[in-house]
Parts: sequence; structure tokens; C-alpha cells
Amino acid sequence: MMNTQPTQPNRKFPRIVIIGGGFGGIEVAKGLKNKAVDVVLLDRNNHHTFQPLLYQVATGTLDAPSIAFPLRKMFRKQENFTFRIADVKAVDTERKVLDTDIGPIAYDYLVIATGATTNFFGNQDLEYYAMPMKNVKEAVNIRSFLLQNMEESLLKATPEERAPYLNVVVVGGGPTGVELSGAIAEIRNHILSKDYHELKKEDMNVYLVEGQSKVLANLSPQASEKAELYLRELGVKVLLNVQVTGYDGEAITFADGRRIPTKTVLWSAGVKGQFPTGIPADRIVRGNRIRVDETCQVVGLQDVFAIGDVAAMITEDLPNGHPGVAPVAQQQGRFLARHLMHVIEGQPTTRFRYFDKGSMATVGRNKAVVDIGKIRFQGFFAWWVWMFVHLMSLVGFRNRLVTFINWVISYVTFNAGIRLIIHKFSRPPRREAPDDVAAVEQNR
Ligand SMILES: Cc1cc2nc3c(=O)[nH]c(=O)nc-3n(C[C@H](O)[C@H](O)[C@H](O)COP(=O)(O)OP(=O)(O)OC[C@H]3O[C@@H](n4cnc5c(N)ncnc54)[C@H](O)[C@@H]3O)c2cc1C
Repeated sequence: MMNTQPTQPNRKFPRIVIIGGGFGGIEVAKGLKNKAVDVVLLDRNNHHTFQPLLYQVATGTLDAPSIAFPLRKMFRKQENFTFRIADVKAVDTERKVLDTDIGPIAYDYLVIATGATTNFFGNQDLEYYAMPMKNVKEAVNIRSFLLQNMEESLLKATPEERAPYLNVVVVGGGPTGVELSGAIAEIRNHILSKDYHELKKEDMNVYLVEGQSKVLANLSPQASEKAELYLRELGVKVLLNVQVTGYDGEAITFADGRRIPTKTVLWSAGVKGQFPTGIPADRIVRGNRIRVDETCQVVGLQDVFAIGDVAAMITEDLPNGHPGVAPVAQQQGRFLARHLMHVIEGQPTTRFRYFDKGSMATVGRNKAVVDIGKIRFQGFFAWWVWMFVHLMSLVGFRNRLVTFINWVISYVTFNAGIRLIIHKFSRPPRREAPDDVAAVEQNR
């Protein structure tokens, strides 16, 4: 057992190192409480992020701390738990050591729970100019940029000059794109002319662009039809069967030749697994995910496990693995904590089985779509269900209370309140990716 290193005191139990304090990683750590193991959690941030409500941070309904929770606070009562802020660069599976920005960290068992990042499919212009929304920082950037552009639009003399600042294009008709475009349309409908007296709601256009023939393609046909209807009722211009071909920061172009002048393209059209280097290339499958067996062990790598968005548990029933949603990561995390103890204690173990609790998405105020098995409903009741589920899923009583109060205020006043530009958003200088990197990216 390797246990010496400057960043970790010696301990007497097997050390389980978890990379990533997201939905999956925290469940592994929690499941190992009071067990005869040392748990080391590493994350490049000091907080867990509740990504399903990022869009409300981006559109000013919630402040960032409402959807984030400090990892140290979460585990302060767990004695066998250690946390380090660390960016893990590489895994050496032979020597069982991680290369991190705070030095090497040895493990006996490794859990890779590093989630996913935005996939621009190798398009470097999109990667540079379009805005992703995978973490709190990116959501706050979107909030700032939307507000900056509204301010900037007032300085333009003609409607044509203003248009790019007030056209917002959301790409990707999955739950994130639907929720984000719906929330921006609410700003347009209820806030724009109140805060900016010179502007009318007709001056602002919100587009949702989707390559397939429907939004929410992974939900039931009823859910996707209703979601599209609700979006159109809100004034979102839903463009279906449309492929984005380019974006230069001034105008977005589509395969059918259309072009929309816009300073703001919000990209929710793809994700890919992210993880440190050192995983053999033949274990990496579609979507840049790590192939695992039905116990979450990386295929052929003893003592290395992967869960959540980064893992692909490919079976006959699931040729593409599980969907990249929080319940998969959480259930795999709980399973893996039990499985690791079975392995360590030499007991027989079981295989992971996913229990699908259903899917839902909200579209502006009052409307949502919910699929729970064969039960499908949409509209006002679905919206209540959506709110209840999301409120109860937030980590921490304070976050639930603050979120609840914010929602009530927003609902009653039609005025989501956190429209602050704390840090002005500006793009960092552009770095060109070498051609070979771009080619690899495109194939992912
Ligand atoms: C905008 C948005 C909305 C979503 N909405 C929903 C929804 O409504 N319902 C739903 O079920 N799912 C939703 N999802 C998906 C859900 O958030 C993911 O499926 C879930 O977060 C996956 O959990 P995970 O533990 O695999 O990874 P994550 O929760 O993403 O956690 C990964 C962690 O790893 C850390 N990390 C990554 N790389 C490193 C490294 N090299 N070194 C150190 N730390 C690292 C990150 O900082 C992060 O904390 C949404 C996702 C997004 C982005």
C-alpha cells in the first residue's frame, strides 16, 4: 500500500481517491462514511455545483451561491474524509499515482468522477466565440454578457446596429437549451422594457436552434410537442432541422444559408467526457467516455473505476451507455461505495442496475413537461412537480430556502432580481489549436 506523499498524512486504511466532487463523486464519499477506508476527494473547485439550475444563474433568477455548496462543509462530520483542491492532470495506473497541480497523490483504489465538458465538435470558431454553460463561472459570464449587450445596444443609433446585441441564439434543443431560451424569453417579455425604457420587447429576438426535427428529442413525443408549443407561445423562434455551420462573433450561419447577426450564441448542443490523461486509448469510446464494466471498473484496469457522465457502461441493452444525467451519476456513486467495500472485504458483489426515475424540463414560468415511465403530463402541475423536485435536490437548507424565496419573489413580481454585472465578460486572447488536435476533436 503506498501512502507517503507531502499532501497526505500517513493513514492505516486503504486509500480511495475520488477525482471530482460532482453528483457521482460525493455519493461515493458519503457511502464510505464510517468504513475502514481513507477517502480523499479531489476537485479543481472547492464546491459541488447543482448544474440543473445553472440556467437560472445565467438569467439572473438565482445567485451563484444558491446552487453551489462547499465540499468541506458537506463532509465536515466524516472523519475518514480528506479534501484537496487539486487539478488532476494524469493517472499512472502502473504506479497507482496521480499527477496533480499540488503534487503526486497515491491511491489504492481510484474513482474517476470528472463529468463532462462542452463539445464543440472540433469547430474552433464556435469554441472561441460561443458561450458554454457547464459551471458557475460560465453561467455568471452569460449573465454578464447578456446584460452588457443590452447596455451596449442603447448606444447604437439604428435598429440594424442594435440587432446583434439583442439577438440571442441558443443552440441545442435538449433540456438545457429549452430551459435557457425559455428563461431569456421571460426576460424579454417581462423585464426588458421595464429596465431599458428605450427598448421594446420586439427589439429582442430569442432563437432556439436544433439540428433534429424536435426539441427534447429524448423525452416522449407529447413532452417535445408541448415544450415546442410553450416556447413558441413565449415568443422563442424555434428553428428545427437546422445545422450550425459557423459563428464569428458577429453572425451565426446555418447550412441552409441563413444567417443571424448576433453577439450572443449560447452553446448547449453537445458534451463529451473529460478526464486526466493516462487512460489507455482503447478504453475510450464514443463521446470521449471511459468504458466500464457493470461494476463501474474501467475495463481491464484493476482498482480504477469511473462513474457518471465520464463513464460508458456499454451493455446489449445500452449500446451507448447510460444517459448523462445526475441520477445515473448518483446511483453509480452509491453502488460503487458498496462495491468497493465488498472488494476490500473480499465479499461477493453485484452488478449496477439503473433505476430511471423519469425526465422533466421547464419552459418559462408556469409550464413544464414531465415523463415518469408511462406517466406523462405537461403544464402547470408539471411545473410544480419540476420546482419541488429541483428544490428538494439542492444541497443544503440555506440554498433551498434562498432559492424558494427567490422563486416566490420572481413569480409574484415578474421580475427576477439578480441582474448584476460583477465582472465584465470579455473573451481572452485567442489561441489557435494545432491542426492535429482539431482533427482529433472533430472525430469525437
Ligand atoms: C446546464 C446543465 C443542466 C443540466 N440539467 C440536468 C437536469 O435537469 N437533470 C439531470 O439529471 N441532469 C442534468 N444535467 C446533467 C448533470 O448535471 C450531469 O449528468 C451530472 O452533473 C454528472 O455528474 P458527474 O458526477 O458525472 O459529474 P459532475 O457533476 O459534472 O462533476 C464533475 C466534477 O469533477 C471535477 N473535475 C473534472 N475534471 C477534474 C480534474 N481533472 N481534476 C479535478 N477535478 C475535476 C469538476 O470540477 C466537477 O466538480 C445538466 C448539466 C448541465 C451542464
